[in-house]
Amino acid sequence: MPRRKDRERRPQRSKISTGPDTFRCVSCRLDVPFEAPGTAHRNHCPNCLTSLHLDRRVPGDRQAACRGRMHPLSLSVRHDGEWMLIHECVSCGELSANRIAGDDNALALVRMAVAPLMAKR
Ligand SMILES: [Zn+2]
Ligand SMILES: [Zn+2]
Repeated sequence: MPRRKDRERRPQRSKISTGPDTFRCVSCRLDVPFEAPGTAHRNHCPNCLTSLHLDRRVPGDRQAACRGRMHPLSLSVRHDGEWMLIHECVSCGELSANRIAGDDNALALVRMAVAPLMAKR
């Protein structure tokens, strides 16, 4: 049963959708739409940046058996200037790099980026 009330303030462009169009964040319980500005596969929460260990090699392949929670660890920048979010799986320790979505929480991103600098003082 869709709760339309929540969506009304920010109308979504309707596109062809396959399967469920939202997932629930394991950390902050936000219902997150898979569709995200600037990326084809949203795989982390735009609010707290937490992800799930679902993909094995290619983003979106959903081949990982782990299903552990992936904690946002750090930021990286690709050679083309795109920001990548580095996640570490709390279950198996695997690292993965994910594209940042246009609506990711900028404060959370910047906090994470400066955290190592603050710790070194
Ligand atoms: Zn979240
Ligand atoms: Zn894992």
